[in-house]
Amino acid sequence: MPEGIHDLVIVGAGPAGAAATITARRLAPDADIVVVDRAAFPRDKACGDALSIDAVAELARLGATHAVDGFAPVERIRLRSPGGREVAARPPAAGYVVPRRILDDRLARAARSAASRWVHAGVRGVELHDHAVRVVTTDGPLWAATVIGTDGANSVVGRSTLDGARTARHTGVAIRAYAPAPAGPAEMLLVWEQVDGLAYAWSFPIDATSHNVGYGVFSGLGRPPRRALVERMVALLPNGAAADPATVRGHRLPLSSGGVHLGGDRVLLAGDAAALVNPITGEGIYYALLSGRLAAQAAARSPDHALAGYRVLVQTELGAHIRSTRCLARLARVGSSLDHLVQAAAASPSTSDLLADLAFGKGALTPASLRTIGAGLWRSARRSGDAARSRS
Ligand SMILES: Cc1cc2nc3c(=O)[nH]c(=O)nc-3n(C[C@H](O)[C@H](O)[C@H](O)COP(=O)(O)OP(=O)(O)OC[C@H]3O[C@@H](n4cnc5c(N)ncnc54)[C@H](O)[C@@H]3O)c2cc1C
Repeated sequence: MPEGIHDLVIVGAGPAGAAATITARRLAPDADIVVVDRAAFPRDKACGDALSIDAVAELARLGATHAVDGFAPVERIRLRSPGGREVAARPPAAGYVVPRRILDDRLARAARSAASRWVHAGVRGVELHDHAVRVVTTDGPLWAATVIGTDGANSVVGRSTLDGARTARHTGVAIRAYAPAPAGPAEMLLVWEQVDGLAYAWSFPIDATSHNVGYGVFSGLGRPPRRALVERMVALLPNGAAADPATVRGHRLPLSSGGVHLGGDRVLLAGDAAALVNPITGEGIYYALLSGRLAAQAAARSPDHALAGYRVLVQTELGAHIRSTRCLARLARVGSSLDHLVQAAAASPSTSDLLADLAFGKGALTPASLRTIGAGLWRSARRSGDAARSRS
């Protein structure tokens, strides 16, 4: 066993890695914490750039609300179902849209000042040894008592730790671009459609003149080429055709509906590396910040049994939410159920709040909310049936 085993090596300095680093330092002021990232910051990341209310609350918990400085809050969300039904929600607090080039740079800077050492290198794999983990980097090996893998959707740490558990069926793909703002009030627009499974387009306001726009599919089956994704984005969004082609960029979406993968002995996974992406909206920054924080808490509390503690923390915070969104993702595959759900939300503020919280926060279905949604779905389906009969 080599000399110089670091207490903690964090692989990846996106939102999950930054949250893990800042939290680890806060809990263990004397710990030897190393962060490794192959990118030089500031760097771009394919993303809708939208931060939910809960993501902003996580930033506050990390002492990093400066990450949204200079950007105006967005107070309206509009959801459109595959059949064109709409609900406009006003969540109790605002979200933000901050280009990842800026957001991640601000977070990485905070992480850099919390880390003992920052290594600019690619990680090729991790190897488990008796009392430590060997992290193989392009800059040579690093030894760690504990590793947190926050290296995103194509996680090398995850691949080295798991036995190919991730399934293509639960890995979506999405592209984003930048476009001029469309006419109308500043709002986050999310449009669902059904094409061999659920897909979505979005237009999110960065400022008065520019929007982040994009399109993604939630099923890895029959993955469409990038050109087809751009075509659907153009078809569904008012400003899709004006998107700057030079800014089109795509990435995978490891969806939590396929099961989350929290790691193994001495190697924890957080954020996209753990497959923590919402299967109905593609949102992942909030879960990355939250799970990065929880992984660092578990590692600080019990380095030798961190996984067990981490599982409990994630289950407590997100278990019900993940089960609920998985259930909603399944429901969304059935006929026009999303149409009825959006229509039910438009008719009832409590259903609308719940839908927004399932889509962008950590809302969970309760027996009472299921009864409300069920009744709303039934009323909406009955109205649609009546309308169809009166037309014929
Ligand atoms: C098109 C698109 C739109 C999206 N829109 C939204 C949205 O609007 N809102 C939202 O909340 N979520 C959105 N998401 C999801 C969100 O982007 C991710 O969930 C989020 O970035 C996860 O953060 P992370 O820290 O886990 O990983 P990442 O942000 O991917 O960070 C991983 C880091 O690890 C580094 N890394 C990777 N591999 C290695 C390696 N081998 N060695 C060293 N370093 C490595 C990378 O350089 C990177 O800095 C979107 C995703 C896509 C693809």
